[in-house]
Amino acid sequence: MNCEICGSTIYGPPKRIVIEGSRLLACMRCSNLGEPDVKGDAPTLQNASTPRPLGSPKSTKPTVSRLPREVEELEITEECPKLIKKAREKNRMSQQDLAEAVKERLTIIQKIELGKMTPNLRLTHTLEHVLRIKLLLPRKEPEIPVGKMDQSELTLGDVIQYKKKTV
Ligand SMILES: [Zn+2]
Repeated sequence: MNCEICGSTIYGPPKRIVIEGSRLLACMRCSNLGEPDVKGDAPTLQNASTPRPLGSPKSTKPTVSRLPREVEELEITEECPKLIKKAREKNRMSQQDLAEAVKERLTIIQKIELGKMTPNLRLTHTLEHVLRIKLLLPRKEPEIPVGKMDQSELTLGDVIQYKKKTV
């Protein structure tokens, strides 16, 4: 079982969350990025496991809707609590002011600044906008060790082999 957001292996029960209307199974780390899926429907695996026929020129649209690219490629920086606090103070806003500006409860802002809570994507965007800061960073790709191997000898096959081992 892999996280549908970051792709890492999920240990223990996966979290069902909803991001921008898409239901996803996420690891603990990514579960904060969306709203909890309260309906608790069974995961839709039948679409993912159906192989699309190869070589058909008039291929139909993929049935599995893709995530917005920002969810795939961006993650919230670890500096988020510090950045928000700093930017808020720079703007001479109290936590209450910020809470009102982003239409959230004061306790939410307090938890975020203390690092006890990760804002969901929508709130992160609002915070970025209100405070004029950058909270989302490009997701770091796992580094492929080159080691003794000459970099030019690293073929696509090697990369695929490596990726298989890490899953
Ligand atoms: Zn994840």
